[in-house]
Amino acid sequence: MTGTETHATRIKARIAELQARLQEIEKTLDEPLDRDPEEQAIDLEDDEVLEAVGYAGLQEIRLLEGALARIADGTYGICQTCGEPIAEVRLKAVPYTGVCRTCARGRT
Ligand SMILES: [Zn+2]
Repeated sequence: MTGTETHATRIKARIAELQARLQEIEKTLDEPLDRDPEEQAIDLEDDEVLEAVGYAGLQEIRLLEGALARIADGTYGICQTCGEPIAEVRLKAVPYTGVCRTCARGRT
């Protein structure tokens, strides 16, 4: 297995994991509200948290799919800003990253 294949496998596994979590969240959000108004308030607050988590998950899936597209066209692991290779360690930590550490730092 080449390095890129390893990344692709890890990215796909991560997407599957996120999708499973999103399904769980959706199931919870679909549950009817508690009758007790106090409990209802808590439920609604929980729902907001879950929605935020779900939103973050969706964003990550989108980024990961972008990374898979770059793997497919052979530009994965190359910094989109400076064209230098992105360090392996960084790709392991942030598999969907499209920029090297230097450029990511320069941005903030
Ligand atoms: Zn760069």
